[in-house]
Amino acid sequence: MPAGKKTATSVSKTVALQVEGIGVPVEVRRHHAARRFTLRVSKTRRAVVVTMPTRARVDDAGVFLNKHIDWVRERLGNVPDGVPFAPGQTIPVRGKPHRVAVVAAERGAPIVKADANAAVPRLLVAGRVEHVPRRLRDWLYEEAKRDLDERVSFHAKALGVRARRICLRDQQTRWGSCSATGVLSFSWRLILAPPFVLDYVAAHEVAHILEMNHGPRFWRLVAKCVPRLEEAKAWLRNEGSDLHRYGLT
Ligand SMILES: [Zn+2]
Repeated sequence: MPAGKKTATSVSKTVALQVEGIGVPVEVRRHHAARRFTLRVSKTRRAVVVTMPTRARVDDAGVFLNKHIDWVRERLGNVPDGVPFAPGQTIPVRGKPHRVAVVAAERGAPIVKADANAAVPRLLVAGRVEHVPRRLRDWLYEEAKRDLDERVSFHAKALGVRARRICLRDQQTRWGSCSATGVLSFSWRLILAPPFVLDYVAAHEVAHILEMNHGPRFWRLVAKCVPRLEEAKAWLRNEGSDLHRYGLT
């Protein structure tokens, strides 16, 4: 969670490459600082990324990839499958697995309802099957917004600051960020994580309003707000990338 500052992107161009026998997209990026070809498998985006010097040819990226194809296959084998927002799938909400089910739409009834009383907690989505992804996503955004609003207000009051605005995003690389003007951005996916994790990210970004850095004073502020600080950081390190599986089709 970098403190507000925007880093200039050094990717000049990305092209998609079709490679036979790999069921995921391959991205070829030109990078001005790249001295040679490098290869990685992105777990969060489920893609193969080849980075190369600005002047190299895309054909050479293909040759390079084919040379290392066994390594790529092995890596891809370790990437867990995506979980679409669809009936029968299990999706965590506030850290608890919920099974998605479709129910008939009823007047005045909520479009999505979390039913925690069933043996396996369920997420009941009203309407037609084809509406499930959109409705579930909208609902998760709203729930994330509500929890984050609550936790941000709480920590802001404790630290005597004011957050200007909260916005939600679907960022791949950050759980939250704080702009120089006091706008806090968060990943909606935090609603999938246990509440103490969302609470930590909320406190982290609120603390940035006072300290736009990750120095000792910053961490003292966060620690004052969050009793399970180390546990939350470890959770994000170990389990965080898993949250990116959900909602992929
Ligand atoms: Zn930070």
